[in-house]
Order: sequence, then C-alpha cells, then structure tokens
Amino acid sequence: MGKRDNESFAVIGLGRFGSSVAQVLFDMGYEVLVMDENPERVQQLNHVSTHAVQADSTDEKAMKELGIRNFDVVVVAIGADIQASILTTLVLKDMGVKKIVAKAQNERHGQVLYKIGADKVVYPEYDMGLRVAHNLISPNVLDFVELSSEYSVAELTVSRDMVGKTLAEMDVRVRFSVNVIAIKNKGEFNIAPSATDFLKDQDVLIVLGHNKDLKKFEDHIRKVGSR
Ligand code: ATP
Repeated sequence: MGKRDNESFAVIGLGRFGSSVAQVLFDMGYEVLVMDENPERVQQLNHVSTHAVQADSTDEKAMKELGIRNFDVVVVAIGADIQASILTTLVLKDMGVKKIVAKAQNERHGQVLYKIGADKVVYPEYDMGLRVAHNLISPNVLDFVELSSEYSVAELTVSRDMVGKTLAEMDVRVRFSVNVIAIKNKGEFNIAPSATDFLKDQDVLIVLGHNKDLKKFEDHIRKVGSR
C-alpha cells in the first residue's frame, strides 16, 4: 500500500499491542518505523512496516542516529519492563519528539509517564476489561469506550419497545439524559439521526452520556430485551 504523505509514526516495543498498532497504521498507508530490541520481533514485523530496526530504545545515541525525532508520533508500547518504558519516554522527551503516546501497565505507571512528558497514556488491558465486563453484564452492549472517568460512548442494540418508534417518541434524551449520536444497521451508518427517524429491528444505537445515565439506559434495554 502506498505511503501517505501526512503523518509518520514510530512504534517502539512489538508485543501484541505494539504490533497491532503498527499493522493498522501501515495498512492505512502511513509511514511506520517499528523498533524492538528483540530481533525476532523485528523480523516478524518487517513486512508490515516501512522501516524495521533492532535497537534498545533507552540508548539515546542509537535513537538519535535513527532520527526518531523526525516522526510526528512515537508510540511507546513497552509494558512489562516499566523501567525501559519510563527511560524510553524520557529519552524521547529530551530529544524533543512532538507527540509521545505511551502504554501503561497500571495507574501508577501512567501517572509517571504523564509526569515525565507523555502526551497521551493508554491502558489497553484496562480498556478491554471494561468492554468485556459491560458486554458480560448486558449482551446488548456491543462496545463501550470511556471518554473520561464520567462520560462514555456505548454501542447498544435497540430494545423491542423501540422498534417502529422514533427517537422523539422514545424521548431518549429526556428519559435517560443520553444522546444518540449515530445509528448503525448492517454496516450502514446514519451519522446524523433526526428525532423523526424510525428505529428498525437490529438497529445499533451509538450513545453518548454520563456513565450513570448510560447504565440506566442499558438497564432499560436489558429489561425490555431485543428481538
Ligand atoms: P503485549 O501485552 O503488548 O503483548 P508483551 O507483554 O509481549 O506486550 P512488553 O513487555 O509490553 O511485552 O514489551 C513489548 C516489547 O517491548 C517486547 O517485544 C520487548 O522486546 C520490547 N522492549 C522492551 N524493552 C525494550 C527496549 N529497551 N528497547 C526496545 N524494545 C524493548
């Protein structure tokens, strides 16, 4: 796939998380440098990156030689070795990397990463646990993304009582204080649903709201059930 001329990315640490980040960026046509100290991991990612290098990311000299500073976004995907993750982030920050996204093992690790200058910290295991838990509690919840500690976006299948009704008739905004931001049906998106659109069987609502209101809405859908 051709290289896109806008953003370039470097992904350091090629575990499952780093590898999937690199692969998706590469598939989307971005320039992606991947790096790991383990030559086998570098070898595995060779065909899904624009450059694959074996290096120790805590080695400032090696990082300078690679010109890491020239990448728009650098993802530090080292998790288990917290010391290596922190040192790498420090090195990148010192070198003046524009945007550093770092993976954290736990909250303490995440706090340290922010303190030393990471622009964004991600918690993939925590996020996935949250999604799985929501899906276990309520099979109507297809996906769940936390936007902050208070607000989230949930993907919910419509309950039986909603089919054939409009959003206005369901009065979702007033009854549950949540916003339906899009409606999905068999891969087709309606990204600007109007209050007068009729809801169909198997519609999936993409809903934004406060966690406690989303829970109220989830509970309602679970109680009524879907077809
Ligand atoms: P995942 O949960 O994403 O599968 P993992 O548990 O396999 O991750 P991590 O400990 O998070 O592995 O590390 C990911 C990768 O980071 C490993 O392949 C490891 O070789 C690499 N790595 C660790 N330290 C360094 C370093 N200083 N320089 C370069 N790569 C490193």
